[in-house]
Amino acid sequence: SKFLAITDVTKVYKAAKGQSVTALDDVSLDIEDGQIIALIGPSGCGKSTLLRMIAGLDGEYEGEIAWATPPKAGRDIGFVFQEHALLPWRTIQRNVALGLEGKGADKAAINARVAELLTMVGLADFAHSYPSELSGGMRQRVAIVRALAYNPRILLMDEPFGALDAITRDRLQDDLLRIWEQTKKTIVLVTHSVEEAAYLADRVVVMSARPGRIRAIHNVPLPRE
Ligand code: ADP
Ligand code: ADP
Repeated sequence: SKFLAITDVTKVYKAAKGQSVTALDDVSLDIEDGQIIALIGPSGCGKSTLLRMIAGLDGEYEGEIAWATPPKAGRDIGFVFQEHALLPWRTIQRNVALGLEGKGADKAAINARVAELLTMVGLADFAHSYPSELSGGMRQRVAIVRALAYNPRILLMDEPFGALDAITRDRLQDDLLRIWEQTKKTIVLVTHSVEEAAYLADRVVVMSARPGRIRAIHNVPLPRE
């Protein structure tokens, strides 16, 4: 079913000296519930901008982004960046718990949710470790489940595996597919890798720069049950 409809979105950044940059030019894209969409294209074609518009991090644009069910702020949208942003002074468990604390949830419920999330990515044994004790790949797995902590309806990922070596990247791609199988989340993933897009996505959206436009949308539904 329809999840999100992006219609004729144009985003112009005001740059220095009265200049402006058209980061997105008339971009339209419909996203279905449970799809994995890859955004691919050269640097500067507006991929990150499109994610930020979807996330509601910047409300200044023309056009329309219409949700089938409007997202609750800070809850329904999970964000994963290229560089995991784990707090070094907090244990893995407390990093994942970050977003769940202070919302009235009791400690036992938070701990149970965190354990469930860490188990999902094979890191239950590292709950009490610190980020510096984990490898880059492990830390990025933590960042992914932290984004899932609230059980968001959509996961926005900005080159989540871009900083990892090839072997680790392959492993995390498979982790992501396993997470998808368990959660059936709608995922929008920015990547530089055609291979990654082809491996992970139901739909590959190819963008071009100056100004940022959608050049092609390839529907390649994977044989998922
Ligand atoms: P991508 O993620 O595909 O590399 P971006 O969305 O980051 O592309 O950027 C698209 C265009 O918008 C680029 O030309 C970039 O320089 C410009 N841009 C991005 N953010 C800003 C900003 N905050 N202010 C001015 N220009 C920006
Ligand atoms: P990277 O390649 O970025 O260093 P990996 O996720 O491949 O990260 O893990 C690197 C090291 O951490 C490997 O030695 C691996 O065996 C170990 N490791 C990763 N995940 C686990 C886990 N769930 N339990 C125990 N060891 C792990």
